[in-house]
Parts: sequence; structure tokens; C-alpha cells
Amino acid sequence: MINKKIKSKSNFFWIYAVIFAIFLGIFFFKSSLSNPKKIDQDTFFDILSKGEVQKIVVKHKETVLVYLKKNVFFQKNPNTYNNEKKLTSSLLKYEFEIGDLQFFQKKFEDYKKKYNLNTTIDFKNQQEYTITKFFFDYGIFFILLIIFWIFIFRRISATGGGPGSQIFNIGKSKAKLFDENDNVKITFKDVAGLEGAKEEVQEIVDFLKSPNRYTKLGGKIPKGALLIGLPGTGKTLLAKAVAGEAKVPFFSLSGSDFVEMFVGVGASRVRDLFEKAKDKSPCIIFIDEIDAIGRSRGKSSIAGSNDERENTLNQLLTEMDGFETNTNVIVLAATNRSDILDKALLRPGRFDRTIIVDLPELNERKEIFLVHLKRLILSNNVDIDFLAKQTPGFSGADIANICNESALIAARKNRSKIDNQDFIDAIDRIVCGLEKKNKIIKPNEKKRIAYHEAGHATISWLLEHSSPFVKVTIVPRGRTLGAAWYLPEERQLTTVEQMKDEICTLLAGRSAEEIIFKNISTGALNDLERVTKQAQSMVTIFGLNDRIGNVSYYDSTGEDEFNFSKPYSEKTAQIIDEEISKIIKEQSQRAKDILKNNEKKLSILANQLLEKEVLFREDLKQIFGERPFPDEMNEVFN
Ligand code: ADP
Repeated sequence: MINKKIKSKSNFFWIYAVIFAIFLGIFFFKSSLSNPKKIDQDTFFDILSKGEVQKIVVKHKETVLVYLKKNVFFQKNPNTYNNEKKLTSSLLKYEFEIGDLQFFQKKFEDYKKKYNLNTTIDFKNQQEYTITKFFFDYGIFFILLIIFWIFIFRRISATGGGPGSQIFNIGKSKAKLFDENDNVKITFKDVAGLEGAKEEVQEIVDFLKSPNRYTKLGGKIPKGALLIGLPGTGKTLLAKAVAGEAKVPFFSLSGSDFVEMFVGVGASRVRDLFEKAKDKSPCIIFIDEIDAIGRSRGKSSIAGSNDERENTLNQLLTEMDGFETNTNVIVLAATNRSDILDKALLRPGRFDRTIIVDLPELNERKEIFLVHLKRLILSNNVDIDFLAKQTPGFSGADIANICNESALIAARKNRSKIDNQDFIDAIDRIVCGLEKKNKIIKPNEKKRIAYHEAGHATISWLLEHSSPFVKVTIVPRGRTLGAAWYLPEERQLTTVEQMKDEICTLLAGRSAEEIIFKNISTGALNDLERVTKQAQSMVTIFGLNDRIGNVSYYDSTGEDEFNFSKPYSEKTAQIIDEEISKIIKEQSQRAKDILKNNEKKLSILANQLLEKEVLFREDLKQIFGERPFPDEMNEVFN
């Protein structure tokens, strides 16, 4: 492919060079052919008076061309050729400018009479003059200008991407085509977990492979499937696997590829894409990030600012409606913002199927680790179960990143194999950023950080419903000065007690500072943000507050996005505020009470933390004894 492109570029270069050379040649040839000598009017009348002039031609009412008589010419140039045509142009010997034509004409007639001359005078048509003069004198520059213009546009468009983005191809779709020649090697085996989603897309592969099996009973093959999921959950990977498995041509592009600054380009690209797809049918079109064009129409459009996007979307809807059920073109699209998609896209007949691609659960994470660990050199102590348990809420892409990062960390330490600690370091790094060993922290600040983190760790150890504790550290990383790590339980439902315990744990850092230093600091910003959100959601979203009752002000349709008025009265607003602050105050007091009762142990923990910088579950067990509650995750750490 690359060779082809280079070849076609060099072809163009040669074409330009030849055109340029031809015009340059014409230009110089023309100038050498007719190059009359410039003289002044007096010299002309001198020559005229000698009877040497055959004719004069007044060009453009301002220039006079002087043609000599043949015999005079041969007298002056005895060895000159006798070719009639060449001779005529050779007779043109002089040229001069005239000021006032009438005055000149009069003087000319006077001379003719005075010297009895038969010299003729001609007037060249202005029109004729313009075309020839213009072409020969300026045409070359215009042609050069056009060549230069084409060259510049080719350069501009070439920097924008492949051949499809050239200025003359602007309305052509930018979809990349993978067909049998490209040999897509990704199959369903490379996609770990996602069993449900895989099953659904497998059916699509089946539709394309043997459509008759489904249509013979009168069923219609779906026209599209929408993969919905958070970034990095494997939607693109799944689509690639479909292409690899179905062994049919696969057009891949992103929603933003339709968008261009020129009006009408998006729609024309959609048309072009579907035309190409129909030619290659059966085939799959994959549009990644479809929300770039698929946003709800009408919403948030300020004075038609989104017209171009809407046109593109309309064209997509029309094309999806338009192609027949038997064209065997299936559109797969991916998005992580299904909530903002236009409803018309989701109706049956367009994207008939919605496939949810969720964040991986424990077992799925383990499978994803296994896929990505295949290419790494591991030491024996790598515990995949532990790693899978350590990464709740991580997407497939995050896990792929951890695997890669761990290999880099091990390489930095000059190890020949990657061990478990490298993976743990990679997780820390991905969650909190790079370790900042050189950050200057004053001793009294360090002490405060240690007590703050020890406060979190103590409460999480002592409360029944707080997430199981993993480790606590005061090594600054990224923007954090220290952190307590937990293993959030993967639960589908959360009870009021669990929410309150989480709030209490989050407030424990500030509470510890208050108890020990008798004052508080700004270090609790992140904790307070989370606490406030949690308390707000209890009162206004989940209906977990007695005074507000079973009411939720949450709007899952997103239609309220631009409605700035609150869906409750001023009085309710006040109750909401009171209840939120009541929850927070209660939990803050609870944290303080527990910490005061365990102040000695809190201090031991903080001091050990100052000394060792990182403490694990084992260290806490030494200080507080076995956790007094059944800990579902206990076996992970034992
Ligand atoms: P999305 O399109 O959902 O944003 P991608 O499909 O581009 O995410 O995933 C990015 C990368 O994450 C993939 O190339 C792959 O390496 C990894 N990945 C994501 N999900 C999985 C999975 N289920 N199995 C294996 N690898 C995965």
C-alpha cells in the first residue's frame, strides 16, 4: 500500500515537471522569435524618411510595430534564409510607444507626403491583442499558479489522512476496509469474558454466514446492533472479532470521521459508505463512538449550530431504512453514551439490537488477565486471583494497561521476570499516578497525613460494612499525599447501613486530625466530595431518607438536562439540605467516637506508618486483632 502511494505521488511530480517545462519552453521560444528592438519616435521617423519601412502596425493604440522592406532587410542581413513565414516575422524589426495616436497619425501622413512613401498603416484589433498577449505574456503565470494551488491542496489534504481525505475526495467515506486480504486475526478467543455480548454478536456472524436459515421462516435479519458500554470494555475488540470470525469485508470508522467543517460532507460520506458496503455485501460496517453523530436531534442546538451533525444523522437513518433486508449489510455501532443517542436510532429496523458490554466481573477480569499475560514472562509468584480481586471497576483496557505497565516496571528494575509486586505497583500507578519520592513534605505535615490515613484505616477495620481494607500508604503519588486502599465489594445492591459506614470511613481522616491536632486541614477535600455525593444520593435519588420519603428526583431519561428549575419546592430543598448535613454530622461524630475509643491504637498505626510508609492487612491485624466481623474477602488475603 505504502509503495503504491509513493509511486502515484512521484507520477504526479513528473506530470507537473513536464507541464512546467513545456510552458517555460513556449515562453522563451516566443520571446526569442519576436523580439523587436525598442526605439524612440524620432529614430522611427528617421528610418521612415529613408523609405525603409514596408508597414507599421499600431497595437492597442499605444505601441507601434515597424516592419522593414524585404530588400532593406536583405541588405542588412545578406545571409538570411528565404522562408516566407520566418521572413515575415523577421521583418518586424522595431517597436516604439506613441503618446497621442492622433498626433502620431498626422505626423506619419505628413512624412508619407513629404517623402512620397508607400508605407502602410494597420490597426490591430484590441480583442485579438488581448487574447494572444494575455496568453503568451501572462498565461504561463496563471498555469504555474494553478499547478502551485493543486500542489498545496494535495499537501494539505495529505496531512489530514489517507487518500480518502484528499480535497477532491472530501465527500468520500473514510472507512477502513478489512477484507480477506487483510487477514484480521482477532477472533472471539481474544475477547475474554463478555459471554452474553459474545453470544449476541455470534448470532450476527451466523446471520451473515447463512442468512437463509433465518429468512426461510419469514424472519428478517437485523440491520444493526448497538454495543453500549463504558470506554475500554472491549466494544471495538468485539467488533473486530466479529470481522475475524465472519470472514466478510468489514468497514471500520469512527463517528467523528463523518464530521468535517464543510456543510453536507457528513451526509455525502454516509451515502458513499453505504454504496461501498452494498457493493461488498455481505459485509459489516462498524461505527465506533457513534454518539459523535447520533446525539438527540433538536436538543441543545443553539440557533441551528448542529445542522451539519443532524443532516449526517438523518442520512444515516435514511440509509439504514433504505437498504433492503436482503442486502446483508449489518451495521455495528459502539457508544458509551447511549443516554444521549437519538431515539430514532434505537428503534427496531435501525439498531434492532442493543448489546450491553459491562465492566468485567471477578471471573471475567481473571480471564482478561489470562489473555494479556500470555505474552509476558512471569515469575511463579504471580497470583492472578489476587490481581483480579484487586481490580474491581477496572475495564479490559485498564487490565491490558496494568499488564503492560508491570512489564515496564520489571524491566526498569532489570528483572528477567515480572513478579506479583510489579503488578501491584502497576495498579497503584494506574490508580493514583506516579510515585513522587522527591516531593518535599514537612515533618509536621507528614505526621498529619499519617494520622489522617491511619484514621481511615482504623475505621474501615472496625466497621462492619466498610469495604475490606487492603493497605495504607503515605507515599505521595500523583496528586495524593497518601491513601488507604480497600477492596470494594462487587454488590448489586447497597443498604443504608453500608452507605453510612462508607461515609463514616471517608470522614475518619478529618476526624483523626481533629482528635490528635485539635484542628483540621484542607487534606480532606476528596473525601468530603465523595461524602457529599453519597449523602445527596441517599436523600434525593434513592429515597433512603425518612423525612423526604420514597421520592427520587433522578431523571434517567436525561431530558431534564437543560431544565434548570428544581423539581421540588423551596421547603423541600431546605429539608434536603438539612438531611444531607444531618447524615454527614452523624457519621462524623460516629467516626470521632470510635477513634477516641481507639486513640492508642490509632497512634501506634500512625507511627508505624511514619516509619514504614506502607502497612498491609497483616500489620493492622497485629494492632487491632482479627477483624470482628465476617469478611467475605478474608480468604483473598490469607
Ligand atoms: P472500547 O472500544 O470499548 O473503548 P476497546 O475494545 O478498544 O474498548 O478495548 C481496548 C483494549 O482493551 C483492547 O484492545 C484490549 O487489549 C483490551 N480489552 C478490553 N476488553 C477486553 C476483553 N474482554 N478481553 C481482552 N482484552 C480486552
